[in-house]
Amino acid sequence: MVDVAQLGWEAATVGELDHRLLKAPHVKLRSFNQGPTGDVVFAVDLRINLPNSVFLSSTEMHSFEHFLLAGFQKYLPQNFISIGLMGCQTGFYLVLFNEGRADTILSTYEAILRDVLVATEVPYANIAQCGNYKNHSLELAQGLARRVLDGRTNWRRVV
Ligand SMILES: [Zn+2]
Repeated sequence: MVDVAQLGWEAATVGELDHRLLKAPHVKLRSFNQGPTGDVVFAVDLRINLPNSVFLSSTEMHSFEHFLLAGFQKYLPQNFISIGLMGCQTGFYLVLFNEGRADTILSTYEAILRDVLVATEVPYANIAQCGNYKNHSLELAQGLARRVLDGRTNWRRVV
Protein backbone atom coordinates (compact mmCIF):
# COMPACT_ATOMS: atom_id res chain seq x y z
CA MET A 1 0.00 0.00 0.00
CA VAL A 2 1.25 3.46 -0.89
CA ASP A 3 0.90 5.99 1.92
CA VAL A 4 1.39 9.40 0.30
CA ALA A 5 1.56 11.24 3.62
CA GLN A 6 4.35 8.93 4.78
CA LEU A 7 6.19 9.70 1.53
CA GLY A 8 6.01 13.38 2.49
CA TRP A 9 3.17 14.60 0.25
CA GLU A 10 0.03 16.41 1.22
CA ALA A 11 -2.70 13.93 0.34
CA ALA A 12 -5.14 16.70 -0.62
CA THR A 13 -2.84 17.93 -3.40
CA VAL A 14 -2.40 14.55 -5.14
CA GLY A 15 -4.28 14.30 -8.43
CA GLU A 16 -5.80 17.00 -10.60
CA LEU A 17 -6.41 20.39 -9.03
CA ASP A 18 -8.15 23.55 -10.22
CA HIS A 19 -5.38 25.30 -12.14
CA ARG A 20 -6.64 28.71 -11.01
CA LEU A 21 -5.52 27.85 -7.47
CA LEU A 22 -2.00 26.68 -8.23
CA LYS A 23 1.14 28.45 -6.99
CA ALA A 24 4.45 28.20 -8.80
CA PRO A 25 7.11 26.99 -8.90
CA HIS A 26 6.01 23.83 -7.11
CA VAL A 27 6.66 20.10 -6.97
CA LYS A 28 3.68 17.83 -6.50
CA LEU A 29 2.79 14.16 -6.67
CA ARG A 30 0.36 13.84 -9.57
CA SER A 31 -0.39 10.12 -9.48
CA PHE A 32 1.03 6.68 -8.79
CA ASN A 33 0.25 3.14 -9.76
CA GLN A 34 1.24 0.02 -7.88
CA GLY A 35 1.64 -3.27 -9.68
CA PRO A 36 0.74 -6.72 -8.31
CA THR A 37 4.29 -7.41 -7.08
CA GLY A 38 4.52 -4.12 -5.16
CA ASP A 39 6.53 -1.98 -7.58
CA VAL A 40 5.19 1.56 -7.90
CA VAL A 41 5.39 4.11 -10.72
CA PHE A 42 5.14 7.73 -9.56
CA ALA A 43 4.25 10.76 -11.71
CA VAL A 44 5.37 14.12 -10.35
CA ASP A 45 4.61 17.64 -11.59
CA LEU A 46 7.53 20.05 -11.75
CA ARG A 47 5.48 23.20 -12.23
CA ILE A 48 7.62 26.19 -13.20
CA ASN A 49 5.17 28.97 -14.09
CA LEU A 50 1.70 29.88 -12.95
CA PRO A 51 -0.94 28.45 -15.30
CA ASN A 52 -2.45 30.92 -17.77
CA SER A 53 0.09 33.61 -17.01
CA VAL A 54 3.57 33.61 -18.53
CA PHE A 55 4.60 30.70 -20.75
CA LEU A 56 8.00 29.13 -21.16
CA SER A 57 9.49 29.58 -24.60
CA SER A 58 10.17 26.57 -26.78
CA THR A 59 13.93 27.09 -26.35
CA GLU A 60 13.69 27.39 -22.55
CA MET A 61 11.60 24.26 -22.31
CA HIS A 62 13.82 22.31 -24.66
CA SER A 63 17.14 23.07 -22.95
CA PHE A 64 15.63 22.63 -19.49
CA GLU A 65 14.20 19.28 -20.57
CA HIS A 66 17.68 18.12 -21.61
CA PHE A 67 19.13 19.13 -18.24
CA LEU A 68 16.34 17.36 -16.33
CA LEU A 69 16.80 14.26 -18.48
CA ALA A 70 20.56 14.17 -17.86
CA GLY A 71 20.19 15.08 -14.18
CA PHE A 72 17.57 12.55 -13.10
CA GLN A 73 19.44 9.86 -15.04
CA LYS A 74 22.62 10.81 -13.19
CA TYR A 75 21.19 11.03 -9.67
CA LEU A 76 18.42 8.39 -9.76
CA PRO A 77 19.55 5.87 -12.39
CA GLN A 78 17.61 2.99 -10.78
CA ASN A 79 14.38 4.97 -10.64
CA PHE A 80 14.24 7.41 -13.52
CA ILE A 81 11.83 6.59 -16.35
CA SER A 82 11.16 9.84 -18.18
CA ILE A 83 10.68 13.58 -18.20
CA GLY A 84 8.12 15.25 -20.45
CA LEU A 85 6.94 18.73 -21.30
CA MET A 86 3.59 20.07 -20.18
CA GLY A 87 1.91 21.08 -23.41
CA CYS A 88 0.68 24.27 -21.74
CA GLN A 89 4.35 25.38 -21.44
CA THR A 90 4.26 25.87 -17.69
CA GLY A 91 6.23 22.87 -16.45
CA PHE A 92 7.37 19.26 -16.75
CA TYR A 93 6.16 15.75 -15.93
CA LEU A 94 8.62 13.49 -14.11
CA VAL A 95 8.05 9.72 -14.01
CA LEU A 96 9.92 7.57 -11.48
CA PHE A 97 9.95 3.86 -10.69
CA ASN A 98 9.92 2.91 -6.98
CA GLU A 99 10.92 6.36 -5.76
CA GLY A 100 8.14 8.52 -4.40
CA ARG A 101 9.72 10.16 -1.35
CA ALA A 102 9.19 13.91 -1.46
CA ASP A 103 12.48 14.73 0.28
CA THR A 104 14.52 12.65 -2.16
CA ILE A 105 12.76 14.07 -5.21
CA LEU A 106 13.09 17.67 -4.02
CA SER A 107 16.75 17.36 -3.06
CA THR A 108 17.54 15.68 -6.38
CA TYR A 109 15.74 18.43 -8.28
CA GLU A 110 17.69 21.04 -6.34
CA ALA A 111 21.01 19.30 -7.09
CA ILE A 112 20.13 19.20 -10.80
CA LEU A 113 19.27 22.90 -10.87
CA ARG A 114 22.55 23.74 -9.11
CA ASP A 115 24.38 21.70 -11.75
CA VAL A 116 22.63 23.75 -14.46
CA LEU A 117 24.03 26.96 -12.98
CA VAL A 118 27.63 25.79 -13.40
CA ALA A 119 27.19 23.86 -16.67
CA THR A 120 29.19 24.91 -19.71
CA GLU A 121 26.89 23.33 -22.29
CA VAL A 122 23.38 21.92 -22.71
CA PRO A 123 23.53 18.09 -22.55
CA TYR A 124 22.69 16.12 -25.72
CA ALA A 125 22.52 19.31 -27.80
CA ASN A 126 23.92 17.67 -30.89
CA ILE A 127 22.57 16.30 -34.13
CA ALA A 128 22.97 12.65 -33.10
CA GLN A 129 21.03 12.96 -29.82
CA CYS A 130 18.42 15.65 -30.41
CA GLY A 131 15.63 16.26 -32.89
CA ASN A 132 16.03 20.06 -32.94
CA TYR A 133 19.62 20.48 -31.82
CA LYS A 134 19.99 24.17 -32.76
CA ASN A 135 17.03 25.16 -30.58
CA HIS A 136 18.98 25.44 -27.32
CA SER A 137 20.23 28.13 -24.97
CA LEU A 138 22.46 27.52 -21.97
CA GLU A 139 21.83 31.09 -20.84
CA LEU A 140 18.02 30.71 -20.87
CA ALA A 141 18.25 27.35 -19.04
CA GLN A 142 20.48 28.90 -16.39
CA GLY A 143 18.13 31.85 -15.94
CA LEU A 144 15.25 29.44 -15.46
CA ALA A 145 17.22 27.29 -13.00
CA ARG A 146 18.12 30.40 -10.99
CA ARG A 147 14.49 31.50 -10.86
CA VAL A 148 13.20 28.08 -9.79
CA LEU A 149 15.93 27.78 -7.13
CA ASP A 150 15.02 31.21 -5.79
CA GLY A 151 11.50 29.88 -5.16
CA ARG A 152 12.59 26.60 -3.54
CA THR A 153 11.34 27.39 -0.04
CA ASN A 154 7.84 27.35 -1.56
CA TRP A 155 8.19 24.26 -3.76
CA ARG A 156 5.88 22.34 -1.44
CA ARG A 157 3.21 25.05 -1.59
CA VAL A 158 1.02 23.73 -4.38
CA VAL A 159 -2.10 25.81 -3.74
ZN1 LIG B 1 16.28 17.83 -27.84
